[in-house]
Amino acid sequence: MEEKRGVISGGTSGIGLAAAKLLVRDGAHVFIVGRDDQKGAAALAELTEGKGRADYVQADVSTLEGCRKVAEIVGHHDGKVDFLVNCAGRYKEQPIDEITESEYDAMMNANVKSTIFLTKTMIPLFSENQPSIVNIASDAALEGNYGCAVYAASKGAVVAFTRAAALDLSPWVRVNCICPGDVDTPLVQKQLEEGGYTMASMASIYPLGRIGRPEEVAHMICSVLSPLNGFMTGAILSVDGGLTAK
Ligand code: NAD
Repeated sequence: MEEKRGVISGGTSGIGLAAAKLLVRDGAHVFIVGRDDQKGAAALAELTEGKGRADYVQADVSTLEGCRKVAEIVGHHDGKVDFLVNCAGRYKEQPIDEITESEYDAMMNANVKSTIFLTKTMIPLFSENQPSIVNIASDAALEGNYGCAVYAASKGAVVAFTRAAALDLSPWVRVNCICPGDVDTPLVQKQLEEGGYTMASMASIYPLGRIGRPEEVAHMICSVLSPLNGFMTGAILSVDGGLTAK
């Protein structure tokens, strides 16, 4: 990925930050997008300590305005983009009879609207060098999960959008999707606190006997983005310790 330039939404923590680290180490210039300046500054310090090239963009990608802001900053001085990772996301458990309109809107905007509109606003910036998009969905997009129907619906939409976008943007831009199982990030730590489970009970449902590490999903993101993977588009890839291997 040397000399490649691109954007990772949700790149200030968890899976997005782990992917940013690998890409920067590989010689890419990465723009990490997040909403919290303090988190952004801390992530940027981690990324650039080895003299890597990275920038932080403060934006809320669940709004069109936020996506336009990212495009304006990244595209400044005719800056071209070789990759986009749509990783920003929200998770919350709610029984179906307790779903509220505001939570539905927050979930769909964070997971679906962000993916669609960041993709749209990046299109004019994409290089001629077979750019690549990776969308992050979830195992919940592929099979039923308890207590998270709106999250599952939002990630199912990301899978469907990936396939349609791969067709619409071919042969120019490759678009693929990764569906992680549980991964030890701040999102899962919050889930453990709010859901009242333990790490051991979460791990027990995995054929590999544990949940994932952010670096393990990050490796797959980098592999899919790489030009060495130039024949892959419209693919939906599981990185889930065998959870959906039934
Ligand atoms: P995380 O909370 O560490 O990272 C998500 C990041 O997205 C956070 O920094 C958050 O602030 C940011 N974000 C959310 N909404 C945003 C917005 N509107 N604008 C800008 N930034 C926003 O969690 P993670 O586990 O690294 O999650 C990354 C992606 O992976 C998410 O899409 C999540 O749904 C997906 N995922 C995670 C798991 C898991 O178990 N951790 C499993 C399956 C899928």
